[in-house]
Amino acid sequence: MRFELIQYKYVYLSDLKSGPCFSTVECRLLRFWEVKKMKQGGELRRLDMLIVDLNGTIMVASISAKHLILFRSRLFAGTVYSVSGFFVSDCAPTLRLTDSPLMIMFNDSTSLDVLSGTDSELPVEGFRFRNEAELHELASASTELPDIVAELSAVKSTVNDPPKGKNHVMATIKMDKGDSVILSLFDCQAIAFHRRLDSMRVDPKVVVATNVKPKTIGGRLYLCATSGTHIYFDKETSIGQASLSRLVSRCPGLTPVAPLIRKVAKVEPVTMAELNSFVAAAVSNDIEYMCTGMVIRLDLEKGWCYIACVKCGRKLKRTESVFVCMHCENYHAVGVPRYRVELAIADGNDEGTFVCYDGTMAKLHGLEAYEAGLISAKDGVNPEDSQIPPFVTGMQGKTYTFHVKLATYDYTAGRQSFTVTRIINLNERLPLPEFVDNGGDGSIGGSMGDNHQIHADVDYDMVGGEASLIDSTEMSDPTSPAVKKARKNLVGEDI
Ligand SMILES: [Zn+2]
Repeated sequence: MRFELIQYKYVYLSDLKSGPCFSTVECRLLRFWEVKKMKQGGELRRLDMLIVDLNGTIMVASISAKHLILFRSRLFAGTVYSVSGFFVSDCAPTLRLTDSPLMIMFNDSTSLDVLSGTDSELPVEGFRFRNEAELHELASASTELPDIVAELSAVKSTVNDPPKGKNHVMATIKMDKGDSVILSLFDCQAIAFHRRLDSMRVDPKVVVATNVKPKTIGGRLYLCATSGTHIYFDKETSIGQASLSRLVSRCPGLTPVAPLIRKVAKVEPVTMAELNSFVAAAVSNDIEYMCTGMVIRLDLEKGWCYIACVKCGRKLKRTESVFVCMHCENYHAVGVPRYRVELAIADGNDEGTFVCYDGTMAKLHGLEAYEAGLISAKDGVNPEDSQIPPFVTGMQGKTYTFHVKLATYDYTAGRQSFTVTRIINLNERLPLPEFVDNGGDGSIGGSMGDNHQIHADVDYDMVGGEASLIDSTEMSDPTSPAVKKARKNLVGEDI
């Protein structure tokens, strides 16, 4: 009897050392993705891949943008290659994609050859799953970007057909502990996720997401997709298949469930918890959401209104005797009170801070801030220091539906707030879709943000004196030039 010793002619990934490598490795390409610059027009930086060898060692291989043309047409997920003539370097210590401390860099002299007939020997999958407890730890450690497997329970999407603007998909998933966790995907990944769900005959029940970034806010876990995130549904992975079988055996029979993705809504309704997750997910502040909650408190540290420049709408600085508009460089600016009310909103599970500016408040109450100031101001009291109008305090305890956008993070307050773009009284009829589609028509309620345009070229100093805040008697007279000016300038609403 003769024994034949057949030596494995390739080098294992675990045997690689830092520096140039002239040995050959045999590996399967698990998945690959483009890494783009966050800014500068999203220019392509490199292509990252995950490869696995016979031992099941997973490693990152990276091709820079300038070398990509040499290899791109030969890259197929699932294909087995022999690779030689590359550089081995150390991985960054944070946000690691694999357990391996090393990675492979392709260069001009790298040879990449497709191997056929050996497919069966190498693992076809490679994941690094982490459970909920581990994800909580990773959220603070930021050492790796783990993979997760979870039950998919709901999906909310801002993706339109055809897609436009910034996009966001929130998948509510249940992991091993059974807590609901929100997984956020953005832009092209959000669109891809939405389209796949839309095209599937039956909604998937299990989702595998690779290389997600865990974050915790107030003890809650949130997951965000990264450029390395791939989504696999149900039977596309063996772990997904096993989880699906368990789920199906747990609830046998035909249980009709609501479709995961609803028809595209112009404004997506969300919960407070989901809204708060946007802070972790760094959601674009261009996306508008709808949230129903009760006003549990008025946060009146900053009062209920501020004095705005009648010309540009920005907040005026008060010196001893005059108002100064830094923007207009006007040291004798005319001021007009505008609403700015902070509301603490709760929906039973979570709470958050909603900031209502002039247009939304005026529209809700049918009263301009200077008129409201008139109700509550005593002689010689500045409107912003005056008593809060009763209809503002009366909002407490009431439930409204808010259209909100993520506001710029308030570093001085150390917290996130949301800008209200519209308030719907619950007894008010919800707007019809046709009406909603017509949003941003330039009316006071629909024009938040950057519009500081002056619609009439008026002489703003005409009424201004030394202390040039428009006084109450003047503002109450609709024929007063100051009132006309104020009305004309109630378009821009930013401070
Ligand atoms: Zn100004």
